[in-house]
Amino acid sequence: MAVVQCVKCGNAGEAITDTLFLGRLEAEVKANVCKKCWKEWEAMRVMVINEYQINLGEESGRELVKKQMRSFLKLGETMDTSKLQQSYRPPQ
Ligand SMILES: [Zn+2]
Repeated sequence: MAVVQCVKCGNAGEAITDTLFLGRLEAEVKANVCKKCWKEWEAMRVMVINEYQINLGEESGRELVKKQMRSFLKLGETMDTSKLQQSYRPPQ
């Protein structure tokens, strides 16, 4: 099992092995985020898209999701996600 030192949870966790289709962000995410935290983001992403009524067919929508992702995974971007964190429930 490949292990990654995760910046999100602070633990050494299982590395992501799936292809994420993130383009140039792919390597950065895989080098810094564990599988468990990525799964959390996948659940969070659905909420983000609903909350902001993001249209993924638009470049601006995809950019906003990327920003939210970097913020959630603590990859340098900071955004106010308190509104989302309040209603966030971890996946079962
Ligand atoms: Zn993690």
